[in-house]
Amino acid sequence: MMTRDEIRELAAFQADESKGACALSFYFQPDPPQDRSHRSEAIVAKDVVKQALKSVAAQGKNGFLHADLDRVLEFATNVRGQARGKGIFACAAQNFWKEYDLPPRLGTTRIYLQPRFQLKPLAAMLGAQPALCVAVVDRQRARFFDLRLDDLREGASIVHLLSRSAASYGYNGYEAGHAERRVSEEALQHFKAVSERLRTDFERGAWERLIIGCHDVNWPEFEPNLHPYVKQRVIGRFSADVASVSNEEIRDRANSVLAKWISERGTSKVCEAIDFAKANGRGVTGLRRVLLALEEGEVQSLFLSESYSAHAVECTYCGHLNAHLVPTCVACAHATRELADVCDAIIPIAIRRNIELFYLRDNADLDRAGNIAALLRFRSDQTRTGKLVAAS
Ligand SMILES: [Zn+2]
Repeated sequence: MMTRDEIRELAAFQADESKGACALSFYFQPDPPQDRSHRSEAIVAKDVVKQALKSVAAQGKNGFLHADLDRVLEFATNVRGQARGKGIFACAAQNFWKEYDLPPRLGTTRIYLQPRFQLKPLAAMLGAQPALCVAVVDRQRARFFDLRLDDLREGASIVHLLSRSAASYGYNGYEAGHAERRVSEEALQHFKAVSERLRTDFERGAWERLIIGCHDVNWPEFEPNLHPYVKQRVIGRFSADVASVSNEEIRDRANSVLAKWISERGTSKVCEAIDFAKANGRGVTGLRRVLLALEEGEVQSLFLSESYSAHAVECTYCGHLNAHLVPTCVACAHATRELADVCDAIIPIAIRRNIELFYLRDNADLDRAGNIAALLRFRSDQTRTGKLVAAS
């Protein structure tokens, strides 16, 4: 699976069009498991690449692009039985070739030939995904995992085996109570050690959000030991038995907690952005204002309707984006080029700057606000005004 740095590398890539270079992005969507025997995935994949080869030949663009397409065709020809999705990003003219396994949630198999890599399918999966820790805990064990897309990696674990309980010694009365208290004290020390590990890992930037897997009966014992700012980072919990839960189960349970959290967060944050925009505060709506806020470096979270697309122009020299289709750049007077979809320029900016990116489906408020909105870290115009007021 991909790391953030790898995604940023793709977002920073620009094909040198003056040398006829082109960025090829290919997304392979495998058939659902129950349809695997039909092998339509390979037929679709080959067809998509052959169509692209045809249109490239018709435009007389051969050479490097043809070599990239031949290589993708080779992948498509041998794709049988692959359960994972795939992303291939290539530009032979600039000696670039990267391929990544992806979760099989890409929608369709598609190929894009553009000046930049097409990152929307990736952004739709990753845009709002935080660096995630999953901790599976009981009274004597804790296992820690990183979860990125469908990739669950186990890190170190903590084990503090409890003394045998009173019942197993056949104690009763005073001695049984004493033994039980000792076991409770040991469990408490264990929960404290687990909480301390979570705190130090968070402080060194190992994760941004936390999901806990534990028995329901252990949660009230464990939770009070979490440091307040670790507690704030918990996005959900699922019930699990440390000794018997499988990694697949942990991944699936954590992924559904995460999906629910992202969806709820998107819905509530977009309302905030729209309300702030109305109050002239830390929010903006509509393409023109969002582009300005992006250029000012103000954007914290970006919201797009799922099928949003708009024309815009981009300066070929300084990269300034303009929602008005002007022939020359208002910032530097160089020529602009038209973008069929402004998202092709916005998504790489969001990825490079670590902006939280939400795609929202059927959100009436966002539709009314022009299908695009942003929540801001600050407003530079108001910061300046604030300074003036303070100075006077
Ligand atoms: Zn310019």
